[in-house]
Amino acid sequence: MSARLTQQRLKDLFDYNPETGGFTRKKTSSKCSYTNNSGYIEISVLGEKHAAHRLAFLYMVGSLPPIVTDHINGVKTDNRWVNLRLASKPENEFASGPKKNNKSGFKGVCFDKARGRWLATIGMNFRSKYIGRYKCLVDAVLARDLAAKKYHREFAFINAPLGRESLKGVCDCVNCRNW
Ligand SMILES: [Zn+2]
Repeated sequence: MSARLTQQRLKDLFDYNPETGGFTRKKTSSKCSYTNNSGYIEISVLGEKHAAHRLAFLYMVGSLPPIVTDHINGVKTDNRWVNLRLASKPENEFASGPKKNNKSGFKGVCFDKARGRWLATIGMNFRSKYIGRYKCLVDAVLARDLAAKKYHREFAFINAPLGRESLKGVCDCVNCRNW
């Protein structure tokens, strides 16, 4: 990030509209942004690319956010001021879905082959905290969701927002087979 770029410099060059989240270049009043490969809006300022949602913080607050910025509604291109908040890195991580290499398909739940149980864990302070081991995948998923609500609060990614009923058919343990 360029040391040359200050709030004043940014305001000299651009207008940011907190209501729409849009940036316009003052001289040409043309749209000046594009969406990058990660789905975020980028703007070229003084020959450097910047994420628009970070520039919004510089514009409004006077400094670039020291930590990761989060889009509250999950829409990466929605840079309205009300939609932006600061999130520390782990919280940004909490809000994301299961990783691609996760075989259970549920965040925080994996199969412990050695014990033949579903292992539920939750990320806390950069560590993985043990929740429990379960014969039933549904129990593991619900236990993990409960912990996520408790510890990650509004940043939580919930596997089953509609609860137990929505997990019908995902588990073939003895109890679930006749469910
Ligand atoms: Zn089950």
